[in-house]
Amino acid sequence: MEDNYRWVLDKGVPRFDANGNFLGFIGAAVDINDQKVLERKKDEFLNVASHELKTPLTSVNAYVQLIEERFEEDKVEGDVKNYISKASRSLGKLNQLISDLLDVSRLEADKVRIDFHKLNFDQLIRNTVDNFMPTTDHTIVVKGKTDKFVTGDEPRLEQVILNFLSNAVKFSPIDKEIIVALNTDDQSVWVEVQDQGIGIDKNKMHKIFDRFYQVDEANHTGGIGLGLYISKEIIQRHWGDIFIDSEGVNKGTTIGFRLDALEQKVSIRTFLF
Ligand code: ADP
Repeated sequence: MEDNYRWVLDKGVPRFDANGNFLGFIGAAVDINDQKVLERKKDEFLNVASHELKTPLTSVNAYVQLIEERFEEDKVEGDVKNYISKASRSLGKLNQLISDLLDVSRLEADKVRIDFHKLNFDQLIRNTVDNFMPTTDHTIVVKGKTDKFVTGDEPRLEQVILNFLSNAVKFSPIDKEIIVALNTDDQSVWVEVQDQGIGIDKNKMHKIFDRFYQVDEANHTGGIGLGLYISKEIIQRHWGDIFIDSEGVNKGTTIGFRLDALEQKVSIRTFLF
């Protein structure tokens, strides 16, 4: 007979007689095979779609950049220049979406490479904030310092901070300051991005790091609910903790991560080998 394996969700409790002898389990096994097959197909689709979209997008990116440069050189003004700069902005958003989808596929397949290096924590955070600043009209203030080093993947940690910052900007009014706070104790360092925006309902907080989760799907802000999932996965791959807190709706949000600090005397070589 051909083997036929199926996915089931099994839950049971043990039963004992009056003398404590084990009699067996009472429970239920729910057949979730169809659901599992669909999930796998969805993951495969995401993987193929994001890879296939990436290639033509790379070429469109390059051409739009060339046109922008040419316009700059020829000092072109007016409508056409305006159209190209709008196209370029939309392209930036498309790039972000597709790279998030690609990241999710890679994370699911456990194919994300984390390149560990010794990093100056304060510099990492300050540089990332400096690079982000020109893209927003919000005021962002960095407070505190740790004077510590961590071991981590610089672009990946930058990606996490950028995600926190772009959420803080998306979900808070323009006149409310965003604070990036650096903290340390003996063994660890942590960074918090604090905004004074729409906050998060306490009852929804436990889902916030789930794939595709958005608190208010109707309130379109240009994302698809992947940023925090990717951030959580990246921080976990650094053996760190990611945390989020909000006093509730309209009370602002604080989000951050904590990493082990490297002892000053220890070089990255001794740490890794
Ligand atoms: P996206 O921002 O693309 O929707 P994320 O995974 O980054 O996806 O965030 C998931 C959801 O968490 C957001 O849609 C939003 O509902 C909520 N959220 C994240 N950051 C904040 C914040 N700073 N203030 C309020 N809500 C937030």
